[in-house]
Parts: sequence; C-alpha cells; structure tokens
Amino acid sequence: MKTYPVYLNGELTVTDTSYEVTNPAKGEVVARMSSVDRSVVAQAIQDAQTAFVGWRQLAGKGRGELLFQVANEVYRRREEIARFITLENGKPLTQSQGEVAMAVDHLRWFAEEARRAYGRIIPHQVKEKRHLVLKAPVGVVGAISPWNFPLALAVRKVAPALAAGCTVVLKPASRTPLCAVAFAECADVAGLPNGVFQLVTGSAAEIGREFLENPLCRKITFTGSTEVGKTLIEGAAQQVKPLALELGGHAPVIVFEDADLNKAVAGTMTAKFRNSGQSCIAANRIYVHRSLYEPFLKSLVEQTKELKVGDGLDPESQIGPLIDEEAVGRALEHVEDAVRGGARVLCGGNRVERTGFFFEPTVLKDAPKGSLCMQEETFAPVAPVCAFDDEAEAIEQANKSPYGLSAYAFTRDLGRVFRLAETLEAGMIAINDGVPTATQAPFGGLKQSGWGRELGSEGLEAFLETKHISIGT
Ligand code: NAP
Repeated sequence: MKTYPVYLNGELTVTDTSYEVTNPAKGEVVARMSSVDRSVVAQAIQDAQTAFVGWRQLAGKGRGELLFQVANEVYRRREEIARFITLENGKPLTQSQGEVAMAVDHLRWFAEEARRAYGRIIPHQVKEKRHLVLKAPVGVVGAISPWNFPLALAVRKVAPALAAGCTVVLKPASRTPLCAVAFAECADVAGLPNGVFQLVTGSAAEIGREFLENPLCRKITFTGSTEVGKTLIEGAAQQVKPLALELGGHAPVIVFEDADLNKAVAGTMTAKFRNSGQSCIAANRIYVHRSLYEPFLKSLVEQTKELKVGDGLDPESQIGPLIDEEAVGRALEHVEDAVRGGARVLCGGNRVERTGFFFEPTVLKDAPKGSLCMQEETFAPVAPVCAFDDEAEAIEQANKSPYGLSAYAFTRDLGRVFRLAETLEAGMIAINDGVPTATQAPFGGLKQSGWGRELGSEGLEAFLETKHISIGT
C-alpha cells in the first residue's frame, strides 16, 4: 500500500512514521500517510521563516504569477484530485469535482489579489509631516484545516497567505491528507521556492502547540470545531498570537408565507444535503410559516426519498457516507432525542445497513425547540422542521444560538429582506439561495462561529499587518 509524503522545504518526503487513511464508503484502509513529530514542525517553521525573507520581496505580480501556475497544475490534475477527495472524504464525485473547481477559482482570485495589497497616503495634520499607511505580510503562518472540504478550505488559507507575501506550514485533517499531498505536488511543479509552502501531518495537539509556542510562527489560521478553536484561543494568550478562526455553525432556514415554495424546497435540499449535511453552513434547523408547513413538508419528503445513497465513486450517488462510525452514532442520537421530545420521522431516521458509514436522508416533523438537533451541529443528512407564526418569532428563534455562521431565508418581500439582513445574527445571510459561498465575497461567522473572514478582499487582509509611516519633511 502506498505511503504518501509530507512536503518539507521543497522535498516530498516519506517519513519513518505513518498512519492509515480510510475510505468511509467501505470502512477500509486505502493508503498510508507519513507523519512527523514536533521537532520537524519546528524545523519547517524555521525554513518558512528563511523563505519568507525572499518571498516577501517578490512583487505581488510575481507571487501572483506563481499562484496562477499552481492553479493551472491543480486544474490539469482536477479529475485525479477529485477522486482523492471522494476516496478519503466520501462525498459524491460530482461534488468533489465542484470542490476542485472552487479551489482553482480561489487560487486564481488570490493570484490577482496579490497585486492589490494597497496602502494609502493620508492628508497631513501639520505641514512638516507626511503620513503613509503600508500593508506588510504578517510572516510565517500556521494553517490548520478540516476534513469536510479538505481541498477548498486549505486553499482558502494558503492562497491568500502566499499572495500577501507570507509563507505557510499547512496541517490538514488527519482523515483527509491525500488531496493536500496532491496540492503540495502542484506547488512543487509550479516552482514555489523551497519553504514557501510546506505540508506536515502528525499529532494535531503537538503541531498546534508548536504553532502556538514558536515565536517565528506569526499567525494561526484555523478551520474546525468551536471546541478546538477555544483550545487555540487559550494557547494563543501566552504570546498574544493572532488567530483567524472559522468554527462551527448551526444555520437556521426560514421559509416565509410569501416564499416561492419550489425555490424554498430546492434551496433547503441543497443547504441540507450537500456533502451529506457535513458542512459548516449546512441547514440545521428549518422554520416554516404555518400556512406553508404541510405543502413544504410534503415536497421536502418527496425529494428527500428520491436521494440516492451510495459510494461517492458511483456516478448515481447523491448522498455519500458520513466521515466515520462516530458521526453515524451522533446522527442516530440526534434523531432519537428529537423523537423522544415529540418529533415525527417522516422519512429515513436510521443508519443504512451496508458496509461504510452511511445514514439515511431524514426529515423530522415538529422538531422540539430544545432538542439536540435544534441546538448542536448534527453534521449528517437530518432535516428537523418546525412551524412558526410570525416574522418576529422566526427571527428570535433563528438568533437563539451561540453560533452565527450562516442563515437562510426564503421570501419575496423586499422590506423583509432588509429587516433580515439587519437583524439575523450571521456572517452570511442567503436569501432565496442555498449556497451563499462566492470566492469574491467574505466568508466567516459571528459569535462562537469564529473570528475574521476568508475569501474576498478580506481574505487577503487577514494576512497583512497595517503600518503607519510618519515622515518629517
Ligand atoms: P476539528 O476536530 O476541530 O478538526 C479540525 C482540524 O483541527 C483538524 O486538522 C484537526 O486535526 C485539528 N485539531 C484537532 N485538535 C487540535 C488541537 N488540539 N490543536 C490544533 N489542531 C487540532 O474539526 P473537524 O471535525 O475536522 O471539522 C468539523 C468542524 O469544522 C465543524 O464544527 C464545522 O462546522 C467546522 N467547520 C467550519 C468551517 C467554517 O468556515 N466556519 C468550515 C468547515 C468546517 P486532526 O484531523 O489530526 O484531528
């Protein structure tokens, strides 16, 4: 069985230690991944610091041109990389292909943005002085990414950091390292100088600690659970290390009485079932105005029953496996808890009896407000629905969560659109839309969903320091 390499200072290196990578559709080991210990991570940071000196001096245009080369190489290998994603994450191949396309788009956007780290000249206060504002790269960045969109979410960090003139040590999720290795190969072929981008795997706690405690690592950018995010916040205090945190979500969907029913169901299906519900912006709680409640449920259940569950490599599959056995257990626990509280299972509700970690696409009617699925990320294809009577009640329920990543609403009332935009507590508000992500728009959350934004011009800004230069004339 092949052992895949880490990428250290320009070398793709198979190390002495490795671990198993499992295909969640079959529950079987498909590859081994090299791992490193903390001392190797410390060396990677040192090499990234050495590389930083030259990389930051390259003009933005030059860095952008290299990023375009990386994008072209990822694009050239797009089919192979999509298969890696399906193999290690389980999502249907068409969704993996979409993820690779999104990653290429991110790379191209930030290749262009590399030229746009604008400073400014401020009108002077006294006539003998002039004031400039410069944007400077923060330095070596430690990036930690999750398994649910293993390529796109890593690229969302690496591309803007490199564009800004930073160098990056990436630690991907242990379950999904193979597409990150493919990305490292693309960076290598594109000719990124040694040490500008590196890939490490191993104990998450040890690597995280090295990123936190090594003074050469100037910023940590993390996507993952709120629980681990809180650990990083505690660890960052000692060195006041800046953190960018993209954490958990618990998105509400609100279907108002004036919604286009077909669009509302279609948008909800996408927001709920994409990646088998394992998305930080997945619809978690669905509130439907009482006047549309029964027709909405009827249509949602009909469409949910039609979803084809299967191995992501089968072109017919629309719902792949969950990431592991524990995820199946949590989905079951959330369904049983809701049922105990009075919910009715309209379809699904159980694990699928086959090898791999599959769960049936599920619709729950009258999900109780206090149930687990209405409060915690289910991260599974489970759609809990309940009725509401007026707008104020819907907004109050939507905001009653410690999370604030995304929110969805379906309505044709323009005045209401503005009220929702102003009052919903979420970093991304999708109106009549099931996928609010766009490369050129900021992505991130409020409250316990995190700090900072990725993508858009904000994505570059996250890796720049602001310096004021005061000049006596
Ligand atoms: P996770 O368990 O927090 O893991 C995320 C990453 O952190 C992985 O690379 C993991 O490594 C690493 N990690 C674990 N413990 C660590 C520690 N003590 N120090 C440093 N790093 C550590 O989250 P997940 O289960 O992979 O991802 C699902 C979560 O991510 C959900 O909550 C989801 O909502 C959130 N998410 C948020 C966004 C967003 O943009 N806001 C996007 C996608 C996902 P190992 O794999 O080696 O354990």
